[in-house]
Amino acid sequence: MPQILDGKIACDFYKKTLVERVKKLSFTPTISIIQIGDNRESAIYIEQKKKFGRTVGVNVSYIHLPAEAVFDEIARVIGEENSKREVSGIIIQSPVPAHLDFLKLVNLIDPKRDVDGLTDENQKLLAEGKPRFIPATARGVMFLLDFYKIPVKGKKVTVLGRSRLVGGPIARMLEMKGANVTVCHSKTPNTAEVTKQSDIVIVAVGKPEFINRSYIKAGAVVIDVGINSLCGEKLEEEISKCKLVGDVNFGNVSGVVSAITPVPGGVGPMTVLSLFDNLVSASLN
Ligand code: NAP
Repeated sequence: MPQILDGKIACDFYKKTLVERVKKLSFTPTISIIQIGDNRESAIYIEQKKKFGRTVGVNVSYIHLPAEAVFDEIARVIGEENSKREVSGIIIQSPVPAHLDFLKLVNLIDPKRDVDGLTDENQKLLAEGKPRFIPATARGVMFLLDFYKIPVKGKKVTVLGRSRLVGGPIARMLEMKGANVTVCHSKTPNTAEVTKQSDIVIVAVGKPEFINRSYIKAGAVVIDVGINSLCGEKLEEEISKCKLVGDVNFGNVSGVVSAITPVPGGVGPMTVLSLFDNLVSASLN
């Protein structure tokens, strides 16, 4: 059996330090979470963030705007949040409705409060190797690798996915730690040939159970970032009855890997932890 890289255990460990950091602050920081529309999965993620925020002792302000909200209206709300002293962090929960440009909205956030690390300014700092805020999922993956003492320096690592939020920052962070990183994306012709030679494979493609053992070298470490809900036809309206799966076919690869993250309970808890870790850092600015 492979080692299971349990994100809940690692999260509980780092959470203790985070609570201590919050206690030492001279004020209680607030994170403002702006949701536009009613995406049901977003609602679940926001609930998780609210709950986590409460347990570490910070304030979570939830601003819910209707799906038809127009750019100027949302821009005004972001501007208001930018001007509140107690608000140390602001995030816009993705996805946003199709009529809106997510990145244009994100770039209205004061970069010093951009705890998701997504503004152009913060992405540039990350690219230059001087990150102000490491996007939470990338930070979470690094925390998890550290917790389980999985060395990355000099290792062949493949990251599948190159998004601004997930794959891109993960690859950059691993490079900064001295890994030999290859990034594969939807246009990469020979992905399996690349992953087959990798010591660590990090998968963030957004395709349920996409990776099977034909992609993985025996003894490799697999980090599954994906979160996909599979719902039977009759269950469509009842998200609570949907099954969560990763981008990796866990059952299929678990016989060949040395270590693997489960979904749920792998990278997910580490992402929430890292967001709040960024919030505490933001409150010190
Ligand atoms: P995204 O913006 O849709 O990006 C997907 C990336 O995968 C793109 O770069 C795409 O390539 C690449 N890709 C698509 N098909 C591929 C293939 N066949 N081979 C290699 N690469 C391929 O998604 P995202 O926001 O990065 O999220 C990725 C996954 O992570 C999703 O399952 C999401 O739910 C999950 N997620 C998890 C957490 C967490 O806390 N665990 C947090 C955020 C997201 P192109 O660039 O060429 O299109």
